[in-house]
Amino acid sequence: MSHPTVTSTSAPNIVADTICRTAELGLSIDNAADAGEVTHLFCRPVATAVDITCPQCHHDGRVRDHVERTLTDLPIAGHPALLHIRVPRLQCTNDDCEVTIYRAGLPTTAARRSSVTRRVTRWILQRMAIDKLSVKACARALGLGWDTVNTLAVTACRALAYGEASRIDHVRVLGVDEHKWKHVRGDGSASFVTVIVDLTPQVDGVGPARLLDMVPGRSAEVFGDWLAARPEGFRDTVKVATMDGYTGYAKAAGEYLHRARTVMDPFHVVRLAADKLDACRRRVQNATLGHRGCKGDPLYGIRRTMLTRISFVTPKRAERLDEVLTADGHAAVQVTWKVYQDLIAAYQDEDRRAGKLRLYKLAKRLRQGVPNELKELRSLGRTLWKRLKDILAYFDTSASNGPVEAINGRLEHLRGIALGFRNKSHYILRSLIHSGGLHERINAL
Ligand SMILES: [Zn+2]
Repeated sequence: MSHPTVTSTSAPNIVADTICRTAELGLSIDNAADAGEVTHLFCRPVATAVDITCPQCHHDGRVRDHVERTLTDLPIAGHPALLHIRVPRLQCTNDDCEVTIYRAGLPTTAARRSSVTRRVTRWILQRMAIDKLSVKACARALGLGWDTVNTLAVTACRALAYGEASRIDHVRVLGVDEHKWKHVRGDGSASFVTVIVDLTPQVDGVGPARLLDMVPGRSAEVFGDWLAARPEGFRDTVKVATMDGYTGYAKAAGEYLHRARTVMDPFHVVRLAADKLDACRRRVQNATLGHRGCKGDPLYGIRRTMLTRISFVTPKRAERLDEVLTADGHAAVQVTWKVYQDLIAAYQDEDRRAGKLRLYKLAKRLRQGVPNELKELRSLGRTLWKRLKDILAYFDTSASNGPVEAINGRLEHLRGIALGFRNKSHYILRSLIHSGGLHERINAL
């Protein structure tokens, strides 16, 4: 674009630099133009703000010519602002270096390949976290596209989450869980995100669990890639990795966390048994009544009572429960219910060693002596046996995935209030911004 002639001076423009606070960017304004919606500022970097070293070999370069670099900056008087910066282009003086020509870096102004100034990224995060501004509103104020702003914010959030080693330095207990971010038909992993939580503060009793990251998808690769991208020191520090029944996560943990014990969380073990109990009830219901359970059907009537820990059931309900379970044709449900209650009792045992033994015996019993007719119990037995090591590990480590579930609950709530997330990366962004630990850090930016 041609240089406009609103103002023109070769001396540093103190007034303009003061108003636009360009000094903190290491820039000095030469000229400006009001082009309708957008304000254009023409500037040059102050000498100390220019990095002339080669990005590849870090040798100094020789100035060849100048090019213009455009960066979006903070809005001025409510209008988007675009900086046009005259940047030296250099030639690397190191003969062995494969880089020949490069643009000088402006480290205080913007990251190397960025299209926005550093303070714009900070501004976006703060507006979103503090003022609850939407991506759309931020994008409009800056004159940028929705996707650009969303991507900037996600990247900045991630950098904030573990850009500093100190933030992930002391993670001894890691929780990983899947979360369904979007309720779509089928079980496609596209509707899942993997939630990674630091449970160390919780286990140490010094604070709540922290959301570390959310990654699109649910697979051994997703979790494995995340672990692989962390420093080795991090992976070696993790002593316990707690997870749900999904074997993919266990596989990834086994591959990358050499010093960690994998623990399958009680919550998920109990939920698995509850699912089996429910499936058994529905099957028997169908077999005895010839239709799906509905109001007035005996088994349907006790479906909630069955899932409640027996010690919490009122005497009146317990009586009804007993009546239905012992009725003709309901034996399969009764046996499955008993196993479900035994499983809970094992976890509830105040003596952990005793609890561990109870669970072990239960798993062993289910592995061997279950008749074919009890297909739900047989299936439960197979899973318990397959994951027995991880299930029993819980009793030795006292690490529970409970906090992961709690965080998932919060995300559930978040999804409820923010209907219609346009895409997954935006959903992840919102979740990260709202997670306790990060919110404070954004405030402090
Ligand atoms: Zn070089």
